[in-house]
Amino acid sequence: MVLLFGVAVAFMVASTASGQKATFAKRIGAIVVDVQGDFTEWKKGSLAVPGTDRAFIEKVTDATKQLKKAGFILFATQDWHPGEHISFHTSHPGKKPFEVITVHNRTQALWPPHGVQGTENARILVDNNLFLAIVQKGRDKRFDSYSGFQDHEGQETEMDSILKHNGIEKVVVYGIATDYCVRATAIDAAHAGYKVIVIEELCRGVASDTSMKALEEIKKAGVIILDKLDIDKIKKL
Ligand SMILES: [Zn+2]
Repeated sequence: MVLLFGVAVAFMVASTASGQKATFAKRIGAIVVDVQGDFTEWKKGSLAVPGTDRAFIEKVTDATKQLKKAGFILFATQDWHPGEHISFHTSHPGKKPFEVITVHNRTQALWPPHGVQGTENARILVDNNLFLAIVQKGRDKRFDSYSGFQDHEGQETEMDSILKHNGIEKVVVYGIATDYCVRATAIDAAHAGYKVIVIEELCRGVASDTSMKALEEIKKAGVIILDKLDIDKIKKL
């Protein structure tokens, strides 16, 4: 399983890296959120977010490689749902995509099926070898999970422990979508005590009004928002 493999690698690298700690004054991480075919126009995804053409994915890939070169430790999140996931409109007879319903006293937005485990368009489009670990979310069909840190039921993923295990205190967050998974991941990272930087030009949102609102909420949580990637600036923050 990709996830377990990822975690094992994370621990392995962390232990070999501990002897070189002196070379990293402060270890900086980056979380690339849900850059998967289903969320892109490039791959004609089922839940394609505006502005996610091939050029955007190449820009994200290039930025991620730059961060790697600069010594950042890279992580990705991956929406990884079973076929009958609660967030799919097809799991609720008679319901349409983008309807909002109440399930178990919780508001649930319904989406076209996406990020289905093992499908081509669930793949992360950025070279997987760049990442120390890929944290999968939404694996429990009963609960949705926008955040890379926890699902809507509050069940934590491995993200916080992997970041801590690697001595990371500052983390850069970008990807898809600004108004959902980037928002939730950045805010949860800030709440978990990390210094968080979101790179606006490396994010794309489902809708402009909700994306603008999300950026305000992200800022209110104490996150720094930069227009574009500026590695020297991030190092100084
Ligand atoms: Zn999902």
